[in-house]
Amino acid sequence: MRILDPWSITDVEDYNRLIEVFGIEVMSEDILKQLPFLNRYFRRKIVFGHRDFQVIVKAIKNSEEYAVMSGIKPSSIYHLGSKITAEQIVYLQQLSKKARVFYAIADIEAWEDNGIPFEKSLEYAVDNVADLITLGLDLKRAYIYLQSREPRVLRWGYLFARGLTRNLLESIYGEKHLGMYMTAMVQVGDILLPQHPDFGGPKPTIVPVGVDQDPHIRLTRDLARKYSGKFKFVPPASVYHKLQWSLKGPGHKMSKRDPMSCLTLNDSPEKASIKIRNAFTGGRETAELQKKLGGKPEVCAVYQLALYHIDDDEKVRQIFEECKQGLRLCGECKHEVAELFANFLRNYQHRKKTNIERARRIIEDLVAGY
Ligand code: SF4
Repeated sequence: MRILDPWSITDVEDYNRLIEVFGIEVMSEDILKQLPFLNRYFRRKIVFGHRDFQVIVKAIKNSEEYAVMSGIKPSSIYHLGSKITAEQIVYLQQLSKKARVFYAIADIEAWEDNGIPFEKSLEYAVDNVADLITLGLDLKRAYIYLQSREPRVLRWGYLFARGLTRNLLESIYGEKHLGMYMTAMVQVGDILLPQHPDFGGPKPTIVPVGVDQDPHIRLTRDLARKYSGKFKFVPPASVYHKLQWSLKGPGHKMSKRDPMSCLTLNDSPEKASIKIRNAFTGGRETAELQKKLGGKPEVCAVYQLALYHIDDDEKVRQIFEECKQGLRLCGECKHEVAELFANFLRNYQHRKKTNIERARRIIEDLVAGY
């Protein structure tokens, strides 16, 4: 029997094109074997590319300080795409005791992009931070802040905007209203904040993101180089993961704007099961054809859900192989994956309950502190 490799499928050609066009480096075996351990996303090649990640690997090996920089736009509750980023933050923090997380609650972006009032953002921020803690963040090595109330990122955003033209921003982001360009500059301030003198100055910084966020990374790295004479910045490194599809399958990014095809961490296990049972699959037109030709897990939203979020490697491999060999039909497969995911949610939501009050206090302290 041919050995199939379930970790190397899903849009490989498209991601290869991104690597070529934007000069993203491939996450090589050579880098992976230098890491103390691999999380699910690295192990399964869902993290497929990077910029300068070797700088972070070196810091880990030499027990040197580095920063993990990320954030959330508090415009809703965490869906599975937000979960991927949050688990990456936690993993990169766990790789070394010298790692410190910087986490921006991007309330300015929530206003500019979604029109969410700042007070409303705070409610979502409590829920988002509770998720981050439940997923494993070590709060003792984390700096969480509200973007609109962190003067250092605002000042740096303005400082580094000097010399940038609207044409340049338009070539990176497309035509946007002015506030979105200003938001992009604030994000430059966010990404460089760990290197502010108040936080010990220049240091390696890693930003884990979906590949759609690469424009922010490229702009920030360019500006870090431009201002390196004065600030001695280390250009921020990045790791890129593949995007979580919605339950409608390939070509649809998971978004809170389409609730029935979006799985959130607050969905009840029963509601999540219903959504999964209605998901797009890579099944054939009839059961006979499925048994004869096998299914197409590489385009199946149910398989992607298992690949990205079910921890048990052997179970995921079994789903893949049985599907390819026509030994599994979509109805029973959906049922099994829905059960596995519902069990995860039950356990997760039980733990999250205890973290809501902690998160509320963190956000209240941030507001009171200004
Ligand atoms: Fe997807 Fe499972 Fe159907 Fe295969 S059997 S196409 S993995 S739902």
